[in-house]
Amino acid sequence: MDATKRAWDAIVQFTKADVTLSPDSPLWGNSNYSHLAAFSEVETWTEFGLKRLSQVYTDGTFHTLPKLRQLLSLPDLSEFRYNQISHLCSAQFPTPPLRLHCTGIEELISQPTKVKLLSNTYKHLISNRYDPRVKYKWESSGVRIDPDDWEEIIDNLYIPLVSMRDRLIQFRIIHQTYLTPQKLFTMGRVASPSCPRCGAPVANFIHLMWDCPVILRFWRAIVNFMATELELPQILNPATCLLGLLDSVVPRVHTRCLIRLLFFYAKKVVALHWMVNSQLELYKLTYLARGCPKKFENIWNPWLESPATSTAR
Ligand SMILES: [Zn+2]
Repeated sequence: MDATKRAWDAIVQFTKADVTLSPDSPLWGNSNYSHLAAFSEVETWTEFGLKRLSQVYTDGTFHTLPKLRQLLSLPDLSEFRYNQISHLCSAQFPTPPLRLHCTGIEELISQPTKVKLLSNTYKHLISNRYDPRVKYKWESSGVRIDPDDWEEIIDNLYIPLVSMRDRLIQFRIIHQTYLTPQKLFTMGRVASPSCPRCGAPVANFIHLMWDCPVILRFWRAIVNFMATELELPQILNPATCLLGLLDSVVPRVHTRCLIRLLFFYAKKVVALHWMVNSQLELYKLTYLARGCPKKFENIWNPWLESPATSTAR
């Protein structure tokens, strides 16, 4: 039971769900209900069979005495006891009507059919991870996303990826958590927010992943290769290449899956390449602050002096 409670608490915390007025909310020992938690005769009411919020409220109003007697199968329930629980609930929920409602996860797990319950629960939790701010980040970067499109993006983010490391990279890309020159500049870690590749004055996430002319050349080459060598549709836009938005343009499921995978590995290459170079500045500053600049050179010189990596920079 403890494990179940811990799992439930973790879900509530993760989804930020408001379970205060869930019909199945426990009346007793519930930290959301301070008045009920302080009640001294919990044992009596537990023996009466009163445990959940839905047992005392219907359609926003507190049950009448006959109704409560019927629900608890206690025809002799006294008026004194009825007034006791009624006053207690009035103190706890002072403003009627009390509209009870299930959260999405409760609706899901209480469905009579339990087919694919685990994967549906996982999907629900994952979809909750994407609050509007994540979508807004992309939209404010100039990537147009309709609500249906966003649902498609979220539904297909992790499905084709089998490696946990790849899933983590996907998570970091969709949340735009990688360090960029713009972020480093804001943190006071670098002297300029400009792009190290093309010299654009501000290198934010979308610039480094897409807008930078150097990166856009890379994306063009990828899309051309996919079209000429694999006969896949030639689609070059950030919503498709970075977010995997494909349903309306590619009817075949397996083709969509392949395209999403290929685009993922292309953006993984982009993310990991420039991430290393953004991080280099942090490493350099850290060694300087520790008073051992030589250490930075000793470690990173092979990388810095290689023609192969200098083209990436
Ligand atoms: Zn650039």
